[in-house]
Amino acid sequence: MHEYVRRIAFISEHASPAASLGGEDAGGQNVYVDDLSRQLSRLGYAVDIFTRRTSPDQPVILDWAPGVRIVHLDAGPPCPVAKDQLWCWMPELRDAFLRFLAEKHAWYDLIHAHFWMSGWVALELKRRLGIPVVQTFHALGQTKRRHQGEADTSPPARLAVEHAIVQQADRLIAQCPAERQELIHGYGASCKQITMLPAGVDTELFHPVDQAQARLRLGLDPSEPVVVYVGRILPRKDVRNVLRAVALLVRRLGQPARMLVVGGETPEPDPQATPELGALQRLAAELGIIDRVIFTGRRPRSELAWYYGAGDVAVTTPWYEPFGLTPLEAMACGRPVIGSAVGGIAFTVQPGVTGFLVPPRDPEALAWRLGQLLVEPNLRARMGDAARLRVEREFTWERAARQTALVYEQVLAEAGTPALTPGVDERPRRLSKVHGLHRRVA
Ligand code: UDP
Repeated sequence: MHEYVRRIAFISEHASPAASLGGEDAGGQNVYVDDLSRQLSRLGYAVDIFTRRTSPDQPVILDWAPGVRIVHLDAGPPCPVAKDQLWCWMPELRDAFLRFLAEKHAWYDLIHAHFWMSGWVALELKRRLGIPVVQTFHALGQTKRRHQGEADTSPPARLAVEHAIVQQADRLIAQCPAERQELIHGYGASCKQITMLPAGVDTELFHPVDQAQARLRLGLDPSEPVVVYVGRILPRKDVRNVLRAVALLVRRLGQPARMLVVGGETPEPDPQATPELGALQRLAAELGIIDRVIFTGRRPRSELAWYYGAGDVAVTTPWYEPFGLTPLEAMACGRPVIGSAVGGIAFTVQPGVTGFLVPPRDPEALAWRLGQLLVEPNLRARMGDAARLRVEREFTWERAARQTALVYEQVLAEAGTPALTPGVDERPRRLSKVHGLHRRVA
């Protein structure tokens, strides 16, 4: 039985752990709030994840995991809305949070905000309630603007809000050195405000599987080289680059490579629902490799080890990547990764050890590395083993949660919150009655 000594409010306006992943607005952030909250609860932190209601059927409180609840707040229409359209509903989200506190007699030691809009809500709550705020951006507007230019559909307020968060939040969590640099040089954050703390991967869900078994299960040829992409299907993920590289490989080297593209809005590959999928299908046809590429559509996380495991190599070459969970997932499945040398990928993939880094938008460089790996089974096996080991050592959620808890405790100590002594302090016990949480009294 757990002893919950702290109560943490996650605010994650658009990314709920309960969403299906792989679509346009559901990816790494959803996984992060889900896995991190579960691990935090094992350390004694009861976490409520506040997110926007996207359907009238969602209960106000959903018991999600031991010590973790999802709280659906009314902010905007109770239906899916693209995240770039959500900004105008943030005052409603703030007010709904305040109403929830009053109605449920709830309190929190600390708010951990995810993404910039939730950060704004958190600052508003900090101003009114004095609750300290830890911020994880997950993506920064300045990086996005630099890479997407006019195609960036973020609300104009984004950069100013992000600057305000950098100035006012008690602590910023950067997930990789590139994000840390951007916070310091792009936003003027001070070094001591930032804790570099990478996300993790579920090493039980993502584990090495027998390749022959995986291929049998997925109906793939047991002997041909297989390249796997898993992730959201968006232009910035540049799966087009991977298709071009595979085409080069097939044409020039005569490698009969097969490519798996896993992701999309729907479980079937539907170009209407996922326009970038249509673009990829057209490109594969133009390149003469449409019969070499399998578009699977979205797959649940519980099945992904089979997809990574069926591959010889996992590839992800986005133009930019704030962190990137999929390289870690592939590594946890014991597969080498070729990734573009950007953002978090340049940090998680160790070139020459667990895979290779290539420049983004460079199909030639990618084709060369693919060719190298696909003809060397020993190198693949060595890199795959090293990848799994690196994940077990550096990127478990347990480790991420322990480090996050350390950040919370530092912030709370700075804010003058006394350390809670289980069995002595009354607040958690009172609350455990209100919320039905178990608390062992010493
Ligand atoms: N994902 C999934 N099913 C799919 C495609 C992707 O569950 O069909 C998951 C994937 O396993 C990963 C997340 O979506 O956990 C994508 O996170 P990542 O950080 O790689 O990219 P982001 O979505 O944050 O840009």
